[in-house]
Amino acid sequence: MNYLKFWGVRGSYPAPFGSHMRIGGNTVCVELRVDDHVLICDGGSGIIPLGNSLLKQDNIKELTILLTHYHWDHISGLPFFVPVFIPGWKLNIYGPGNSKEEIKKRISGQMIDPYFPIEVETWLADINYLIPHNTELEYGPFKVETFNVHHPGITLGYRITVHDKTIVYVSDNELQFIDQAIEARKNEFNSDELELMETIRSEEQDIALQYIKNADLLIHDAQYTPEDYKIKKGWGHSCYVDTINFAMEANVKNLYLIHLDPNYDDNQAEEIHLDAIKILGEHNSPIVCNMAREGLIVDIDSL
Ligand SMILES: [Zn+2]
Ligand SMILES: [Zn+2]
Repeated sequence: MNYLKFWGVRGSYPAPFGSHMRIGGNTVCVELRVDDHVLICDGGSGIIPLGNSLLKQDNIKELTILLTHYHWDHISGLPFFVPVFIPGWKLNIYGPGNSKEEIKKRISGQMIDPYFPIEVETWLADINYLIPHNTELEYGPFKVETFNVHHPGITLGYRITVHDKTIVYVSDNELQFIDQAIEARKNEFNSDELELMETIRSEEQDIALQYIKNADLLIHDAQYTPEDYKIKKGWGHSCYVDTINFAMEANVKNLYLIHLDPNYDDNQAEEIHLDAIKILGEHNSPIVCNMAREGLIVDIDSL
């Protein structure tokens, strides 16, 4: 089966608490396995069990990892990802940066003394840092387009096309970022400036929609409830209601809410999911909405 599997779905930090186990505690990592090619989105702590599972098979020895950015919750699993230590494995790593050296430095920085006992030089696999060009990347059956999203520092979203299906991965993105920026400074602008800001806002919205429109599957940041978002505006994450509205506007088929705040336990996650279904129902939307859950497998060909 060609599939997508969620190995980690938490945002910010691992949350291995008894009250969180139905959703899972590992930070973000999603595997796409198609025609014996493996594409991995992000290297949070969820990549550790993925690495262990890859050792149990023989026919795949090359992997491509797409990093959205270098915050800890997206790279903290890499120092424990066993395939990197084994000669004969090949890893292609892609992420924001202006050169291969810059990407390497950003990943290896978390392993230098005194923060970690062994440095990136102990990686014996063939590591190939891909030249970032912010346009298109092809790997096996996968065609990947990158785009910028609203999150502190440079952060990428990925639009992946495989077997005529489109999967969009946007782990960290504050959908209301520009609205918030305009709202916060609206008293400083005159009417012409406000009009200009509104034009920029609508152009940005069109660009964002262009990459997400009609996706068969959208995986998107849904970190906060509306109440918590009110006090965490500008932190780079979305309220799940904004995510649902955006998915409806983009006319996606399946929506998976990911990067849930680690403070939310399973009961709160369930409440968010039920409310999401209610909102979609009120709009007569055909979108199928799920909470991303650790261990969940989605058959890509059946999308
Ligand atoms: Zn994150
Ligand atoms: Zn982040």
